[in-house]
Amino acid sequence: MTHDYLQVDDLLTDEDRAIRDTVRDYAQSELAPHVAEWYDEGTLPDGLGPMFGKLGLLGMHLDGYGCAGTSATAYGVACRELEAVDSGLRSFVSVQGSLAMYAIHRWGTEEQKEEWLPRMATGEALGCFGLTESDAGSDPGSMKTRARLDGGDWVLNGSKMWITNGTLADVAIVWAQTDDPSAGSGGGGIRGFVVPTDTPGFSAHKIQRKLSLRASVTAELVLDDLRVPASAAFPEVRGLKGPLSCLNEARYGIVWGVVGAARACLEESLAYTSEREQFGKPLSSFQLTQRKLALMTVAVNNASLVAWRLGALKDAGTVTPAQVSYGKYANVRAALDVAREARTTLGGAGITLDHTVMRHMNNLETVMTYEGTEEMHLLSIGADLTGSPAFR
Ligand code: FAD
Repeated sequence: MTHDYLQVDDLLTDEDRAIRDTVRDYAQSELAPHVAEWYDEGTLPDGLGPMFGKLGLLGMHLDGYGCAGTSATAYGVACRELEAVDSGLRSFVSVQGSLAMYAIHRWGTEEQKEEWLPRMATGEALGCFGLTESDAGSDPGSMKTRARLDGGDWVLNGSKMWITNGTLADVAIVWAQTDDPSAGSGGGGIRGFVVPTDTPGFSAHKIQRKLSLRASVTAELVLDDLRVPASAAFPEVRGLKGPLSCLNEARYGIVWGVVGAARACLEESLAYTSEREQFGKPLSSFQLTQRKLALMTVAVNNASLVAWRLGALKDAGTVTPAQVSYGKYANVRAALDVAREARTTLGGAGITLDHTVMRHMNNLETVMTYEGTEEMHLLSIGADLTGSPAFR
C-alpha cells in the first residue's frame, strides 16, 4: 500500500482501526464526491454538524456529556481520514471538538458543560473559538478585546478575526482582556467567556475571497457592548494558559490530519503518472518521476510515524506542548512539500479542481498558518531546547 509503506496502522488498536474504517468509508462516499463543488463555491452544506455528530466525531476524545471518550490516537486517525478529503472538513471537526468543546470541558463550570456539551456532541449546537484579532495573531497576549464588570455582568467590546465556523456557531468561546485584580501582569488578565451567539451585541461576518480553506467558513466576530452574566466566564483559568491549552489539542489533530492530505496527494500523483503517457511511456516510468514518488512516500510515512508516536504519548498522558509543536511543524511542512511536488506531476491538469492536489496545497497554506505559524512552532522548539524564548 502506497500510503502505509511502514505499516504504521498495524500499530493501532482494533478499535482505532474500526474507527478509521468507518470515518474513511463515510468521508470517501459522502464527502469526497462533493468537496470540489463546496470548495469552488466557498461554502459548506447545511447539516454537516449533525452528520459528524451521528458518526460520533464531535469531541470524540472527551469523556462524558455525550462525548464518545475514544483514545487520542483514534481522534487523530479520524482527523487523518477527514483531511484526506479536505482540510476544511477536518477544521470543522477540530474547531468544534478541540477548541470550543475542549475549552468548555477543561475550563467550564458544571452548568456550562451541561448546557452545551451534549448538544455540541450531537452537532445540534455548533461552536467557534475567538482568540485571534486583526492586530493580534501570533502574539495573542496583545489582544484588545476587553471585558469589564458592570454590576453582576460582564460587558465585552472588541472584534475577533479569522474565526472558523464563526457565522455557523451557536456559541462562541471568546477570550478577552479583563481588569481582573487576581490576574497579575503580562496578559494574565485574559479570561474566557462562553457567549451564545444570539446575545445582543454579537455579530459575525463571513470573510470572502479566500484562496485557501474554501470548504470552510471563516468569519470576523464583532462584540459591541455585549452583556453576559458573570456565570458566562470560565471560573478559574487566567492568562494565555487557557487558550493555549485548547490550541495544543487542536494542533495535535493537525499533526494527524495533514498525513491524510499528503497521502491523498501521493495517491493521486501515483495514479495519474501511471496512466498518463508522454514520450511514448507512462510518466511514472521516468526516473525523475520515480524520485518524486519515492520522496513523497518517505515524507508521508515519516509524518505518519510522527503522528502515531505523538498519539501514543498523548494517550499515555505525557505529551508536551513542545512535542506537539514538533509534530505540527514537521508534518505540515512535509504535507505542503508533498502537495507541491504532487502537483508538478500532474502538469497543467494539476491546477484544476478536477484533481485534488492543488486544493490540498492551497489548504495547507492555511494549515501552516493557523494554530501557530511554522515560525512560532520553530521558536517553541527553540525555547524548549535552549531555555531561552526568542519570541520577542
Ligand atoms: P502574524 O502574526 O501577523 O504573522 C505574519 C508572519 O510573521 C508569519 O509568518 C509569522 O510566523 C511571522 N512572525 C510573527 N511574529 C514573529 C516572530 N516573533 N518571529 C518571526 N516571525 C514572526 N484564529 C482563531 O482564534 N480562531 C480560529 O478559528 C481561527 N481560524 C482560522 C482560519 C483560517 C482560514 C486562518 C487563515 C486563520 C485562522 N485563525 C483563527 C487565525 C490564525 O491562528 C492566525 O492567522 C495565526 O495565528 C497567525 O496570525 P496572523 O495571521 O495575524 O499573522
